[in-house]
Amino acid sequence: MADTPVIEIHDLHKSYGNLEVLKGVDLTAPRGHVISLIGSSGSGKSTLLRCCNLLEDSQQGEIRFEGEAVHWKGHGLHRHPADRAQVTRIRTNLSMVFQQFNLWSHMTILQNVMEAPVTVLKRDPKEVEEKARYYLAKVGIADKAEAWPAQLSGGQQQRAAIARALCMEPRALLFDEPTSALDPELEQEVVKVIKALADEGRTMILVTHDMRLAADCSDHVIFLHMGRIEEQGPPDRLFGNPQTERLRGFLSATA
Ligand code: ADP
Ligand code: MG
Repeated sequence: MADTPVIEIHDLHKSYGNLEVLKGVDLTAPRGHVISLIGSSGSGKSTLLRCCNLLEDSQQGEIRFEGEAVHWKGHGLHRHPADRAQVTRIRTNLSMVFQQFNLWSHMTILQNVMEAPVTVLKRDPKEVEEKARYYLAKVGIADKAEAWPAQLSGGQQQRAAIARALCMEPRALLFDEPTSALDPELEQEVVKVIKALADEGRTMILVTHDMRLAADCSDHVIFLHMGRIEEQGPPDRLFGNPQTERLRGFLSATA
């Protein structure tokens, strides 16, 4: 159904051993919306993002992808997704962009972008190459297709990583601090790409320390504090009129 959210999470709990890092978190990512996750280091942002595409197990709670509930086996600390095919389907539909780009250094930029669609999705290499070049052009580095990752600036490498995520033609993009590893002058070229993707109506979950980016491109912002949602709402209200002492403190510390 058109109005079924791409991702829905209800009452998610996640522990590493005895350390509970998500303590009952809800998140809904409707199609075409950008959800930003903000909060101090260690508040659980990356963990929540990794739970969305099942890179992490969780101990309790529900995760739905396009209305389809993830099936679990086991319980408590031993709970895992039950169905490998379902995990693969969900993971390939939620492409992740990491802080550290994670490009393969022994492959050209074009090969990096083509790798997963060809090997994981088994798409026709000729068609994938056409798409890969299209997405490289979209992020402004068409001329770097034959270059090696080490020959690119950090900002160009991150744009290549975004092209790689796009080439999977996922239902949503998950960004984990995509600009944190970049020098300030290179940050903006990546910010521009992310804003353009938001403008064209892509569904995205964005973990960021860049409050301006979160304010500019989000439909909804979630402020995590020690594994709980302390406050959430539209960016205007969250940034313009924070209700909790903790969010006020966080915003004045990051300003
Ligand atoms: P954030 O992204 O908001 O900085 P994280 O989700 O990375 O926070 O981490 C939340 C908490 O979980 C932190 O206390 C962190 O030390 C802990 N943590 C994260 N990953 C692991 C792991 N693989 N093993 C044990 N503890 C972890
Ligand atoms: Mg993190």
